[in-house]
Amino acid sequence: MTENSAPTVRFAPSPTGRLHIGNIRTALINWLFASASDGCFILRLDDTDVERSTEAFAQGIIDDLAWLGVEPHRTERQSDRFKIYDEAADKLREAGLLYACYETPDEIERRRKRLMARGLPPVYDRAALKLTDEEKAAFEAEGRTPHWRFLLPNFSSTPFETQRTDVHWDDVMRGQQTVDLASMSDPVLIRGNGSYLYTLPSVVDDLDMGVTHVIRGGDHVTNTGAQIALFEALGGPAPRFGHHNLLMSASGEGLSKRKGALSIASLREAGLEPMAVASLATLIGTGQAVEACASLEELNSVFDPTKVSKSDAKFDDNDLGALNEKLLQSMSYERALPRLKEADADLGESFWLAIRANLSKFGEAVDWQKIVEGQFEPVEVLAEDAEFLAAAAELLPAEPWGEDVWAQWTNALKQETGRKGRGLFMPLRKALTGLDHGPELAQLLPVIGWERTRRRLP
Ligand code: GLU
Repeated sequence: MTENSAPTVRFAPSPTGRLHIGNIRTALINWLFASASDGCFILRLDDTDVERSTEAFAQGIIDDLAWLGVEPHRTERQSDRFKIYDEAADKLREAGLLYACYETPDEIERRRKRLMARGLPPVYDRAALKLTDEEKAAFEAEGRTPHWRFLLPNFSSTPFETQRTDVHWDDVMRGQQTVDLASMSDPVLIRGNGSYLYTLPSVVDDLDMGVTHVIRGGDHVTNTGAQIALFEALGGPAPRFGHHNLLMSASGEGLSKRKGALSIASLREAGLEPMAVASLATLIGTGQAVEACASLEELNSVFDPTKVSKSDAKFDDNDLGALNEKLLQSMSYERALPRLKEADADLGESFWLAIRANLSKFGEAVDWQKIVEGQFEPVEVLAEDAEFLAAAAELLPAEPWGEDVWAQWTNALKQETGRKGRGLFMPLRKALTGLDHGPELAQLLPVIGWERTRRRLP
């Protein structure tokens, strides 16, 4: 790959739960990164865990991404690709790089504890490499099936004498990174029941699908060292890596899809704008201000992956409300129109411009449409306002109305009744809308129109 060629990225969730805000941070950063240079975005469903993965969760992921405006150029499922992983595993076995181990989880745990008690790093000692064929046969006769470890290239003459082996990469977000392969255990690639852990399928797919940039959460940094070695063992080259910081909940815990925390589905159901969610999920935890971007293109022009902070970021869902309001306040009629129509709440541009500053969720447009059309419970007129409202009916300017009809009407009323401020506006607001708060009446009155206004006055 040359630096200038269009990137290919992938977003690789496991369909074992709904996406949450932390997952879509990864998805969006990948999407923006690819879009910035006309690249390709692959949705890779990491469903090798066939027991926990479901079709409903896979569809949920596709729907959540579509809601955010992310339409993958290609979608792949790892469960369709076991044959390719088997071939890669065979290749590693033939090269002596994948070896059978028979320790039970208990045995591994005991060894780990022993090493820790001696103040040593709990690195697997490769004892299984010393097993003879007879010993292996004996384990199998006992009913044990092997799990398989990848032999890390961290030694020169014998695997039992490891030496410091630094793997370096220039991380898109973190700059120069180094991991010492001698500091880690040979990773298990295949479990005792024959199922794959994520490491090998991921590397095989990244190679096979021509992935140029692996952009994912910072929790994968140590995996990257072993994965780079695996890329090389399978014929490489390794792609470029980028690790973004993770989002923590306001109380400081990691976001977990298993807890259903801040799922995209729940934010969508709550009526939030997808771009409020996308703007916050992307721009939080960067050195950049969190702006409410109206489109992914706009977000792309603002977001700079090299500005992503190294430390984790606190995500506060209260920020979503403010961003949502900002987006609605500046949403053009043109953009709002299809949704107003769908909700059967389109009363023209002046209606939208009158109400948008008062919306905390788009769906509230329907409430205002009903109010404009008179579907509300009239409020009882206070005795002290009866005369004032009668005067208001009297002085309501005749049609046609100009833009300043509200000023014209209220000035005339001020002169006639001597009322001003709240005493002047509030009875009118209540009579016209049934509420004591809402959009600027100067903007709303022309939308309500003479006929309906007159009917709401005594
Ligand atoms: N399925 C893995 C995860 O969700 C993918 C990690 C990666 O992007 O390589 O953690």
